Amino acid sequence: MPSRLDAVVVGSGPNGLAAAVELARNGADVLVVESAETIGGGTRTAELTLPGFHHDVCSAAHPLGILSPYLSGLPLVEHGLTWIQPPASVAHPLDRQPAVILRKSMAATAGSLTPDANAYRRLVAPFLRHPHELIAEVLGPGHLPRHPLLLARFGAPALLPATLLGRSWFRGERARALLAGCAAHSILPLGRPVSAAVGLLFLVTGHVETWPIAHGGSSSITSALAGYLRSLGGRIETGKAVHALADVPPSRILLFDTSPDQVASIAEPVLPGRYIRRLGRYRYGPGIFKVDWALDGPIPWTDSACLDAATVHVGGTLDEIASAESAVWRGQHPDRPFTIVVQPSLFDASRAPAGKHTGWAYCHVPAGSTLDRTEAIERQVERFAPGFRDRILARHVMNTVDLEQYNANYVGGAITGGVTDLGQLFTRPVARVDPYSTPNPDVFICSASTPPGGGVHGMCGYHAARSALRRLASGAV
Ligand SMILES: Cc1cc2nc3c(=O)[nH]c(=O)nc-3n(C[C@H](O)[C@H](O)[C@H](O)COP(=O)(O)OP(=O)(O)OC[C@H]3O[C@@H](n4cnc5c(N)ncnc54)[C@H](O)[C@@H]3O)c2cc1C
Repeated sequence: MPSRLDAVVVGSGPNGLAAAVELARNGADVLVVESAETIGGGTRTAELTLPGFHHDVCSAAHPLGILSPYLSGLPLVEHGLTWIQPPASVAHPLDRQPAVILRKSMAATAGSLTPDANAYRRLVAPFLRHPHELIAEVLGPGHLPRHPLLLARFGAPALLPATLLGRSWFRGERARALLAGCAAHSILPLGRPVSAAVGLLFLVTGHVETWPIAHGGSSSITSALAGYLRSLGGRIETGKAVHALADVPPSRILLFDTSPDQVASIAEPVLPGRYIRRLGRYRYGPGIFKVDWALDGPIPWTDSACLDAATVHVGGTLDEIASAESAVWRGQHPDRPFTIVVQPSLFDASRAPAGKHTGWAYCHVPAGSTLDRTEAIERQVERFAPGFRDRILARHVMNTVDLEQYNANYVGGAITGGVTDLGQLFTRPVARVDPYSTPNPDVFICSASTPPGGGVHGMCGYHAARSALRRLASGAV
């Protein structure tokens, strides 16, 4: 090993590995150090319940993975990544009527949204003319847009609260519910400005590429990134927790795929106190409660069309979802939590023994909550899939404390790197022209706590690496 590496990346999540790949592709000598025994951060797959049942511990469905401007340009297929695309992206069951299904076909989707077929088309279709340009604009830091008109057109509805957009744009429950379910991935109260952005973006993605799962589990995404990194000469060391700068081998630059509070504590000796205090004011938001099931068969949804979808949004109407999400922000645990359900084994036989299935679900909870939400989640699923509980062979649950122990980035159980409201959307973790940089020119942040935020897309890592490469090229280090 040379005496001084070009770059060390702390953390091997999708952003850490994307950063390392981009650095290595540009000739840098890179080492990734990971505290866990396995790589992958929020993309690990494990036998959490019974032997032969392979569960996605964190991410399961990847709209922004397949559409990531960075990941989609890498030779990840050559390193073992196969995306599997189910027939539909989202199913949203409703009481006493067919489920709403988000399919790639605009005609099929809009046609089922009576009385809002035309309104839905008017809202979403304009962005399908240049979807990749739109996605590239929104998956980056604040910048001078290359497509200002497209971005302005998106921004007008996206900046609204999801409840306002849903109630003013649509007349019926079906389209409103579909928007609310997608918007609730933002983990914002749906009455808050900009909560419509994720909803609208996810609707657009569903018409561009059906939301995929990764063959073999989401760990295939980061193992492909790691394989590509190694082919470029990069190295990865696992089981190496970084608690202080002394734990990191000497390097010209250092990138943190970690939460801002870890940056503050690890790099405290080389960062100014004012910046450390600003990192300390970063807001992480609510956490989640997660359940994984080993199942004796598929979830028996009343509307079997739900079995077509990568993701099932279980929460009922827009009003119900909005009420559940705002309760979480008030520190409460709603009786009927909005619950996201994925059954990867429906589309990937490698996930469970023959004839058996895996189930994955989570709901939002107040930060730091230790309340067991299994009963509330299972009641919600049972509401739209009577007999579901009879199919449960075993379960594994994680509350916010378990999650933070599993990955120190999940502060208080928050899974998307921190709140994505107007105050932190483009200025995460602190407001700087280059949010990946710090006042120390050799220290960078590349985790989901930088723009564009949570999700498996690698774009935080890519942008941070571009910033770090400018520093390396300056020759000043
Ligand atoms: C339950 C759950 C469900 C999710 N579902 C989805 C989904 O379906 N689709 C989707 O796109 N996204 C989903 N996400 C979000 C997604 O997983 C994250 O946004 C993404 O993984 C963030 O990537 P990252 O590289 O920034 O950080 P992480 O993936 O958190 O990786 C950080 C890595 O750094 C390591 N690390 C942390 N501190 C240290 C240290 N001090 N020293 C050394 N190593 C350290 C960690 O062990 C970890 O491996 C989910 C997350 C969770 C938890």
